[in-house]
Amino acid sequence: MAKVKYYYDSETLSYRKIKRKKTTTLKYAGAFLTAAALFGFISYFISSQYFESPKERQLSRELQNMQLQYELINKRMDDAIAALENVEERDNAIYRLYFEANPIPEEQRRAGFGGINRYKKYEGFDNSQLIAESNKRLDILEKAIVVQSKSLDEIAKLAEDKEKFLEAIPAIQPVNNLNLTRMASGYGYRTDPFTKVRKFHFGMDFTAPRGTPIYASGDGVVKRADNASTGYGNHIRIDHGYGYISLYAHLYKYNVKVNQRVKRGDLIGFVGSTGRSEAPHLHYEIFKDGERINPINFYYGNLSAEEYDKLLKKASLENQSLD
Ligand SMILES: [Zn+2]
Repeated sequence: MAKVKYYYDSETLSYRKIKRKKTTTLKYAGAFLTAAALFGFISYFISSQYFESPKERQLSRELQNMQLQYELINKRMDDAIAALENVEERDNAIYRLYFEANPIPEEQRRAGFGGINRYKKYEGFDNSQLIAESNKRLDILEKAIVVQSKSLDEIAKLAEDKEKFLEAIPAIQPVNNLNLTRMASGYGYRTDPFTKVRKFHFGMDFTAPRGTPIYASGDGVVKRADNASTGYGNHIRIDHGYGYISLYAHLYKYNVKVNQRVKRGDLIGFVGSTGRSEAPHLHYEIFKDGERINPINFYYGNLSAEEYDKLLKKASLENQSLD
Protein backbone atom coordinates (compact mmCIF):
# COMPACT_ATOMS: atom_id res chain seq x y z
CA MET A 1 0.00 0.00 0.00
CA ALA A 2 1.37 3.37 -1.06
CA LYS A 3 2.18 5.88 1.62
CA VAL A 4 -0.19 8.82 1.81
CA LYS A 5 1.65 12.11 2.19
CA TYR A 6 0.23 15.28 3.88
CA TYR A 7 1.11 18.95 3.99
CA TYR A 8 0.04 21.80 6.41
CA ASP A 9 -2.28 24.36 4.78
CA SER A 10 -1.72 27.69 6.57
CA GLU A 11 -4.85 29.20 5.10
CA THR A 12 -7.25 26.60 6.32
CA LEU A 13 -5.02 25.73 9.29
CA SER A 14 -5.39 22.04 8.58
CA TYR A 15 -3.41 19.06 7.16
CA ARG A 16 -4.24 18.16 3.62
CA LYS A 17 -3.34 15.17 1.42
CA ILE A 18 -0.72 15.74 -1.26
CA LYS A 19 -2.15 14.82 -4.65
CA ARG A 20 0.34 13.62 -7.32
CA LYS A 21 -0.16 14.86 -10.88
CA LYS A 22 -1.26 12.18 -13.51
CA THR A 23 1.39 13.27 -16.06
CA THR A 24 4.15 12.69 -13.54
CA THR A 25 2.90 9.12 -13.01
CA LEU A 26 2.97 8.44 -16.76
CA LYS A 27 6.49 9.79 -17.03
CA TYR A 28 7.70 7.44 -14.31
CA ALA A 29 6.00 4.48 -15.99
CA GLY A 30 7.47 5.34 -19.40
CA ALA A 31 10.98 5.64 -18.04
CA PHE A 32 10.64 2.32 -16.26
CA LEU A 33 9.44 0.49 -19.37
CA THR A 34 12.22 1.97 -21.53
CA ALA A 35 14.84 0.96 -18.99
CA ALA A 36 13.38 -2.56 -18.73
CA ALA A 37 13.29 -3.00 -22.50
CA LEU A 38 16.86 -1.76 -22.85
CA PHE A 39 18.03 -4.05 -20.08
CA GLY A 40 16.19 -6.99 -21.66
CA PHE A 41 17.66 -6.34 -25.07
CA ILE A 42 21.20 -6.00 -23.73
CA SER A 43 20.84 -9.18 -21.66
CA TYR A 44 19.51 -11.07 -24.69
CA PHE A 45 22.31 -9.75 -26.89
CA ILE A 46 24.96 -10.77 -24.34
CA SER A 47 23.46 -14.16 -23.56
CA SER A 48 22.97 -15.01 -27.26
CA GLN A 49 26.75 -14.68 -27.73
CA TYR A 50 27.34 -17.44 -25.20
CA PHE A 51 24.22 -19.60 -25.27
CA GLU A 52 22.28 -21.18 -28.21
CA SER A 53 18.58 -21.06 -28.59
CA PRO A 54 16.78 -24.41 -29.16
CA LYS A 55 16.31 -23.45 -32.82
CA GLU A 56 19.99 -22.67 -33.21
CA ARG A 57 20.92 -25.96 -31.57
CA GLN A 58 18.66 -27.72 -34.07
CA LEU A 59 20.23 -25.90 -37.04
CA SER A 60 23.74 -26.59 -35.87
CA ARG A 61 22.93 -30.29 -35.49
CA GLU A 62 21.56 -30.32 -39.03
CA LEU A 63 24.69 -28.62 -40.31
CA GLN A 64 26.93 -31.16 -38.61
CA ASN A 65 24.85 -33.96 -40.04
CA MET A 66 25.11 -32.46 -43.51
CA GLN A 67 28.89 -32.17 -43.25
CA LEU A 68 29.06 -35.79 -42.14
CA GLN A 69 26.89 -36.86 -45.08
CA TYR A 70 29.15 -34.96 -47.50
CA GLU A 71 32.18 -36.70 -46.04
CA LEU A 72 30.49 -40.10 -46.43
CA ILE A 73 29.55 -39.30 -50.03
CA ASN A 74 33.17 -38.31 -50.69
CA LYS A 75 34.32 -41.66 -49.29
CA ARG A 76 31.92 -43.47 -51.60
CA MET A 77 33.26 -41.37 -54.48
CA ASP A 78 36.78 -42.51 -53.51
CA ASP A 79 35.63 -46.13 -53.89
CA ALA A 80 33.92 -45.42 -57.21
CA ILE A 81 37.02 -43.62 -58.52
CA ALA A 82 39.25 -46.52 -57.41
CA ALA A 83 37.00 -49.04 -59.18
CA LEU A 84 36.94 -46.91 -62.32
CA GLU A 85 40.73 -46.49 -62.23
CA ASN A 86 41.04 -50.28 -62.20
CA VAL A 87 38.87 -50.56 -65.33
CA GLU A 88 40.78 -47.71 -66.99
CA GLU A 89 44.09 -49.41 -66.30
CA ARG A 90 42.91 -52.67 -67.85
CA ASP A 91 41.42 -50.69 -70.72
CA ASN A 92 44.75 -49.01 -71.52
CA ALA A 93 47.08 -51.90 -70.70
CA ILE A 94 45.10 -54.85 -72.07
CA TYR A 95 42.06 -54.14 -74.24
CA ARG A 96 43.31 -51.15 -76.16
CA LEU A 97 46.77 -52.67 -76.46
CA TYR A 98 45.38 -55.96 -77.74
CA PHE A 99 43.30 -54.25 -80.40
CA GLU A 100 46.16 -51.89 -81.30
CA ALA A 101 44.31 -48.75 -80.21
CA ASN A 102 46.30 -45.95 -78.58
CA PRO A 103 45.93 -45.73 -74.79
CA ILE A 104 43.80 -42.80 -73.60
CA PRO A 105 46.11 -40.33 -71.78
CA GLU A 106 45.46 -39.54 -68.12
CA GLU A 107 44.83 -35.84 -68.77
CA GLN A 108 42.07 -36.75 -71.22
CA ARG A 109 40.45 -39.16 -68.77
CA ARG A 110 40.68 -36.70 -65.83
CA ALA A 111 39.79 -33.52 -67.67
CA GLY A 112 37.75 -31.08 -65.59
CA PHE A 113 35.63 -28.27 -66.94
CA GLY A 114 37.35 -25.05 -67.95
CA GLY A 115 35.95 -21.65 -68.89
CA ILE A 116 33.35 -20.00 -66.66
CA ASN A 117 33.37 -20.81 -62.96
CA ARG A 118 30.59 -23.39 -62.82
CA TYR A 119 30.96 -23.67 -59.03
CA LYS A 120 30.27 -19.97 -58.34
CA LYS A 121 26.75 -20.75 -57.13
CA TYR A 122 28.22 -22.55 -54.11
CA GLU A 123 30.34 -19.57 -53.02
CA GLY A 124 29.66 -17.34 -50.01
CA PHE A 125 28.86 -19.97 -47.33
CA ASP A 126 30.86 -21.59 -44.56
CA ASN A 127 30.78 -24.94 -46.41
CA SER A 128 31.32 -23.52 -49.91
CA GLN A 129 34.66 -25.27 -50.24
CA LEU A 130 33.30 -28.69 -49.24
CA ILE A 131 30.28 -28.46 -51.54
CA ALA A 132 32.19 -27.03 -54.52
CA GLU A 133 34.98 -29.62 -54.17
CA SER A 134 32.47 -32.49 -53.93
CA ASN A 135 30.64 -31.28 -57.02
CA LYS A 136 33.90 -30.88 -58.90
CA ARG A 137 34.95 -34.46 -58.09
CA LEU A 138 31.56 -35.77 -59.13
CA ASP A 139 31.78 -33.88 -62.46
CA ILE A 140 35.22 -35.36 -63.16
CA LEU A 141 33.99 -38.83 -62.19
CA GLU A 142 30.97 -38.53 -64.48
CA LYS A 143 33.14 -37.39 -67.38
CA ALA A 144 35.67 -40.19 -66.76
CA ILE A 145 32.83 -42.74 -66.92
CA VAL A 146 31.70 -41.31 -70.27
CA VAL A 147 35.28 -41.47 -71.63
CA GLN A 148 35.63 -45.09 -70.42
CA SER A 149 32.26 -46.06 -71.85
CA LYS A 150 33.19 -44.59 -75.26
CA SER A 151 36.49 -46.47 -75.15
CA LEU A 152 34.66 -49.76 -74.56
CA ASP A 153 32.35 -49.00 -77.50
CA GLU A 154 35.43 -48.52 -79.63
CA ILE A 155 36.95 -51.79 -78.33
CA ALA A 156 33.71 -53.65 -79.10
CA LYS A 157 33.88 -52.36 -82.68
CA LEU A 158 37.55 -53.33 -83.00
CA ALA A 159 36.79 -56.79 -81.59
CA GLU A 160 34.08 -57.22 -84.21
CA ASP A 161 36.50 -56.13 -86.96
CA LYS A 162 39.16 -58.46 -85.60
CA GLU A 163 36.71 -61.35 -85.65
CA LYS A 164 35.92 -60.59 -89.30
CA PHE A 165 39.64 -60.39 -90.02
CA LEU A 166 40.29 -63.73 -88.33
CA GLU A 167 37.50 -65.33 -90.34
CA ALA A 168 38.82 -63.85 -93.57
CA ILE A 169 42.52 -64.63 -93.52
CA PRO A 170 43.55 -67.96 -95.10
CA ALA A 171 44.12 -69.94 -91.91
CA ILE A 172 43.42 -73.63 -92.52
CA GLN A 173 45.06 -76.35 -94.54
CA PRO A 174 43.05 -76.57 -97.80
CA VAL A 175 43.16 -80.37 -98.01
CA ASN A 176 42.02 -82.70 -95.27
CA ASN A 177 44.90 -84.54 -93.61
CA LEU A 178 43.05 -87.87 -94.01
CA ASN A 179 43.08 -87.41 -97.79
CA LEU A 180 46.76 -86.62 -98.04
CA THR A 181 49.08 -89.18 -99.54
CA ARG A 182 51.88 -87.02 -98.24
CA MET A 183 52.85 -83.40 -97.89
CA ALA A 184 55.11 -83.32 -100.87
CA SER A 185 56.88 -80.05 -100.77
CA GLY A 186 57.03 -76.77 -98.90
CA TYR A 187 57.84 -73.14 -99.58
CA GLY A 188 61.48 -72.45 -100.36
CA TYR A 189 64.23 -73.68 -102.66
CA ARG A 190 63.28 -77.01 -104.30
CA THR A 191 64.42 -79.01 -107.31
CA ASP A 192 62.21 -78.35 -110.33
CA PRO A 193 60.58 -81.68 -111.35
CA PHE A 194 60.96 -80.89 -115.04
CA THR A 195 64.28 -79.07 -115.39
CA LYS A 196 65.88 -80.57 -112.24
CA VAL A 197 67.20 -77.09 -111.49
CA ARG A 198 67.12 -75.71 -107.94
CA LYS A 199 64.63 -72.86 -107.85
CA PHE A 200 62.30 -71.13 -105.46
CA HIS A 201 58.97 -72.87 -104.89
CA PHE A 202 56.47 -70.22 -103.82
CA GLY A 203 53.77 -72.49 -102.48
CA MET A 204 53.07 -75.78 -100.77
CA ASP A 205 52.30 -79.02 -102.58
CA PHE A 206 49.81 -81.44 -101.04
CA THR A 207 49.85 -84.85 -102.72
CA ALA A 208 46.39 -86.40 -102.87
CA PRO A 209 44.46 -88.60 -105.33
CA ARG A 210 42.70 -86.95 -108.22
CA GLY A 211 39.22 -85.76 -107.11
CA THR A 212 40.19 -85.08 -103.48
CA PRO A 213 38.11 -82.13 -102.13
CA ILE A 214 39.83 -78.74 -101.75
CA TYR A 215 38.48 -76.29 -99.17
CA ALA A 216 38.58 -72.47 -99.04
CA SER A 217 41.12 -71.55 -96.35
CA GLY A 218 39.27 -68.35 -95.34
CA ASP A 219 36.17 -66.24 -96.06
CA GLY A 220 36.35 -64.28 -99.29
CA VAL A 221 35.29 -63.80 -102.91
CA VAL A 222 36.36 -66.01 -105.83
CA LYS A 223 38.27 -63.68 -108.15
CA ARG A 224 39.43 -66.26 -110.67
CA ALA A 225 38.53 -69.83 -111.67
CA ASP A 226 40.30 -70.44 -114.99
CA ASN A 227 43.44 -71.84 -116.64
CA ALA A 228 44.72 -68.59 -118.16
CA SER A 229 47.84 -68.30 -115.95
CA THR A 230 50.91 -70.17 -117.21
CA GLY A 231 51.77 -73.29 -115.23
CA TYR A 232 48.91 -73.25 -112.72
CA GLY A 233 46.47 -75.12 -114.98
CA ASN A 234 42.90 -74.92 -113.69
CA HIS A 235 43.23 -72.67 -110.68
CA ILE A 236 41.19 -70.63 -108.23
CA ARG A 237 42.11 -67.34 -106.57
CA ILE A 238 40.15 -66.17 -103.54
CA ASP A 239 40.40 -62.56 -102.39
CA HIS A 240 40.07 -62.51 -98.57
CA GLY A 241 40.44 -58.75 -98.12
CA TYR A 242 43.06 -57.19 -95.81
CA GLY A 243 45.58 -57.76 -98.64
CA TYR A 244 45.27 -61.59 -98.63
CA ILE A 245 44.71 -63.80 -101.66
CA SER A 246 44.90 -67.61 -101.68
CA LEU A 247 45.62 -69.61 -104.83
CA TYR A 248 44.74 -73.25 -105.55
CA ALA A 249 46.37 -74.77 -108.66
CA HIS A 250 46.36 -77.87 -110.95
CA LEU A 251 42.66 -78.53 -110.22
CA TYR A 252 40.76 -81.33 -111.82
CA LYS A 253 37.37 -79.60 -111.44
CA TYR A 254 35.89 -76.40 -109.99
CA ASN A 255 33.08 -76.27 -107.45
CA VAL A 256 32.73 -72.44 -107.48
CA LYS A 257 32.23 -69.63 -109.99
CA VAL A 258 33.92 -66.23 -110.32
CA ASN A 259 32.51 -63.57 -107.92
CA GLN A 260 31.05 -66.24 -105.67
CA ARG A 261 31.33 -65.47 -101.95
CA VAL A 262 32.82 -68.36 -99.99
CA LYS A 263 33.24 -69.22 -96.33
CA ARG A 264 36.25 -70.90 -94.75
CA GLY A 265 35.88 -74.66 -95.23
CA ASP A 266 33.61 -74.44 -98.30
CA LEU A 267 34.35 -77.05 -100.96
CA ILE A 268 35.75 -75.06 -103.91
CA GLY A 269 37.25 -77.72 -106.22
CA PHE A 270 39.01 -81.06 -106.63
CA VAL A 271 42.64 -82.11 -106.80
CA GLY A 272 44.00 -82.75 -110.34
CA SER A 273 47.19 -82.50 -112.35
CA THR A 274 46.39 -79.79 -114.93
CA GLY A 275 49.08 -77.29 -115.99
CA ARG A 276 52.73 -77.72 -115.14
CA SER A 277 52.29 -80.67 -112.81
CA GLU A 278 54.02 -83.99 -112.51
CA ALA A 279 51.35 -85.88 -110.55
CA PRO A 280 47.96 -85.16 -108.95
CA HIS A 281 48.52 -82.62 -106.15
CA LEU A 282 47.30 -79.28 -104.88
CA HIS A 283 49.75 -76.42 -105.27
CA TYR A 284 48.70 -73.80 -102.69
CA GLU A 285 49.93 -70.20 -102.42
CA ILE A 286 49.13 -67.23 -100.21
CA PHE A 287 49.66 -63.64 -101.35
CA LYS A 288 49.92 -60.77 -98.90
CA ASP A 289 49.91 -57.33 -100.53
CA GLY A 290 50.99 -58.91 -103.82
CA GLU A 291 53.91 -60.90 -102.35
CA ARG A 292 53.83 -64.68 -102.06
CA ILE A 293 54.42 -65.69 -98.45
CA ASN A 294 54.96 -69.05 -96.75
CA PRO A 295 51.57 -70.76 -96.21
CA ILE A 296 53.03 -72.90 -93.43
CA ASN A 297 52.56 -69.97 -91.01
CA PHE A 298 48.80 -70.01 -91.52
CA TYR A 299 47.54 -73.43 -90.52
CA TYR A 300 46.61 -72.72 -86.93
CA GLY A 301 42.98 -73.04 -87.93
CA ASN A 302 42.57 -76.81 -88.27
CA LEU A 303 45.77 -78.61 -87.30
CA SER A 304 46.72 -79.91 -83.87
CA ALA A 305 50.12 -78.93 -82.47
CA GLU A 306 51.42 -82.40 -83.30
CA GLU A 307 50.08 -82.37 -86.85
CA TYR A 308 51.49 -78.92 -87.36
CA ASP A 309 54.89 -80.04 -86.10
CA LYS A 310 54.91 -82.96 -88.51
CA LEU A 311 53.86 -80.71 -91.40
CA LEU A 312 56.57 -78.21 -90.49
CA LYS A 313 59.28 -80.89 -90.60
CA LYS A 314 58.11 -82.30 -93.93
CA ALA A 315 57.67 -78.88 -95.49
CA SER A 316 61.18 -77.85 -94.58
CA LEU A 317 62.81 -80.83 -96.37
CA GLU A 318 64.55 -79.62 -99.49
CA ASN A 319 63.17 -82.20 -101.88
CA GLN A 320 61.77 -82.08 -105.38
CA SER A 321 58.54 -80.12 -105.75
CA LEU A 322 55.62 -81.26 -107.89
CA ASP A 323 55.09 -77.64 -109.01
ZN1 LIG B 1 53.89 -76.58 -106.16
